[in-house]
Amino acid sequence: MSSDNNLKFGRNVITVEEARASLREHAALMVTESIPLASSFGRSLAVDVHAEHPVPHFRRSGVDGYAVRSEDIRQAGWDTPVTLTVIERIPSGTVPQYRVGSGNASRIMTGAPVPDGADTVVMLEMTDSLTDKGQLNFVKVKKALPAGSNITPIAGEIANGDFLLERGSLIGPGEAALLATFGYNEVPVYRKPQVAIFSTGSELLNVQDDLVPGRIRNSNGYMLAAQVEAAGGLAQLMPPLSDDVKQVRAALEEALGQADLVVTSGGVSVGDYDVLVDVFGRFEGDLLFNKVAMRPGTPTSGALWKGRLLLALSGNPGASFVGFELFVKPLIKVMLGCSTPYPEPVSASLDADYDKASAYPRYVRGTKHVVNGCLWARPAGIDKSSIMVSIKDADCLIWLPAGGQGFQRGDRVLIYSI
Ligand code: AMP
Ligand code: MG
Repeated sequence: MSSDNNLKFGRNVITVEEARASLREHAALMVTESIPLASSFGRSLAVDVHAEHPVPHFRRSGVDGYAVRSEDIRQAGWDTPVTLTVIERIPSGTVPQYRVGSGNASRIMTGAPVPDGADTVVMLEMTDSLTDKGQLNFVKVKKALPAGSNITPIAGEIANGDFLLERGSLIGPGEAALLATFGYNEVPVYRKPQVAIFSTGSELLNVQDDLVPGRIRNSNGYMLAAQVEAAGGLAQLMPPLSDDVKQVRAALEEALGQADLVVTSGGVSVGDYDVLVDVFGRFEGDLLFNKVAMRPGTPTSGALWKGRLLLALSGNPGASFVGFELFVKPLIKVMLGCSTPYPEPVSASLDADYDKASAYPRYVRGTKHVVNGCLWARPAGIDKSSIMVSIKDADCLIWLPAGGQGFQRGDRVLIYSI
């Protein structure tokens, strides 16, 4: 057999996990940039964050009420109120001026610093105010409270130096709140990887082209671009390439020189016009793998050229979609510093018979739903890799092991959310 035939028919099969490990090994971490916190939602943090001060950094009142000494109100009850002299009003954002001595109370608002001397804040609802010529001078406290009530102590939430956020975390609402709390007006994040997307196939038309017999519009490119953006990358959607080795090689080499990652669809199987196979046949880079034990997308290939990774996905829309979710999405996450890039499976019941047994594990595009608190998943439409219309309904991949006689409704299966 010629070496081209070896690349087509003599391939070594590796597992999904091995293919992922190989990609991870060669993935380059993105450089960092600083961006305004306000526009950092969904970005990946490029530093570990530790608390640089305690939270709260003052004793904080949790309620609207009166700051008092707990020993002064030990006898207080609904019918035996204790009267205290109000010495101060403490709106939030101000600093108390007076120490609360025996027989004193300070009117205090939620979030304001508790004055020295006080060890308890009594909720407004448990007091009666007494006005003296329009001045609020006295308060009747109608409930006894132990020391510490309604006060968050210094560092009660976060101690100085606490480890809070791991490098590579996605910045969501909780992360944004922490970063704001610690004064990160600008946030160091990993730059989004530029992912060049090529669709190969002489049958492909541009989206704006009129349909002609025998040809189809390039839908994979747009699907993959959306997947890149959802994964945290920047999609560079390239015009479709025809099955011309020279043209494809030149386009890929140029893209590998400037993009952080290159993804192709089509041309990786054993047909006469499978152009990526020919490119890999005379490739200056390293072919990492060209056959993965999975369906769809068995001929999915990975390569390295001058330190840049190229992921060549099968052209069938279902295979492209699944290949992206299995390999490219985690790879983008790794490039963005994520330490847990692979989704964990959860157990679900299969909500349809699935007759096709397979020599390789199968990743079926699925739709999940909950019935009486139990998770079920069923194939999203017809499960053929050439079927594109059901991709919009897929919210998980149903993992079906190799071998066997097929699967029955009610069988326990593993699913991966996507
Ligand atoms: P291939 O992997 O190149 O053999 O492609 C398999 C089939 O997938 C082709 O015959 C097309 O029908 C379809 N296909 C390939 N590329 C695309 C694309 N970019 N958009 C939509 N369908 C595609
Ligand atoms: Mg093709």
